[in-house]
Amino acid sequence: MIKTLFEKIAAREIPAQIVFEDDLVLAFRDINPAAPAHVLIVPKQPIPRIGEATADDQKLLGHLLLKAAEVAKQLDLKNGYRLVINNGADGGETVPHLHVHILGGRHLAWPPG
Ligand code: AMP
Repeated sequence: MIKTLFEKIAAREIPAQIVFEDDLVLAFRDINPAAPAHVLIVPKQPIPRIGEATADDQKLLGHLLLKAAEVAKQLDLKNGYRLVINNGADGGETVPHLHVHILGGRHLAWPPG
């Protein structure tokens, strides 16, 4: 199987600034940050996108979200932050390995563009 970009990061084949890791998930700084704090958290076992997750992924997805909140705390985003999942072309997805964006460190406008 060909590894996804984020699997290569998890395997240390591509460098990244890793900020959290456990058996199931990996969090690392986005290479092109859209905010002062911009971290991606991904399941190590790739799911292409949230629209393709199944009931079998329920526990992993819960873990991913709980760890996203933990990483936001670790990043000291006391004033707030946003979690974003882009799905498909219209959603702005560019990497087909499910990831949650953790964005903070500035006021984020709503609605997004
Ligand atoms: P999305 O557009 O939601 O699929 O998000 C993909 C994100 O991955 C973008 O914000 C990119 O800046 C980020 N990205 C792409 N390549 C890398 C990389 N090698 N290391 C860290 N982040 C990356």
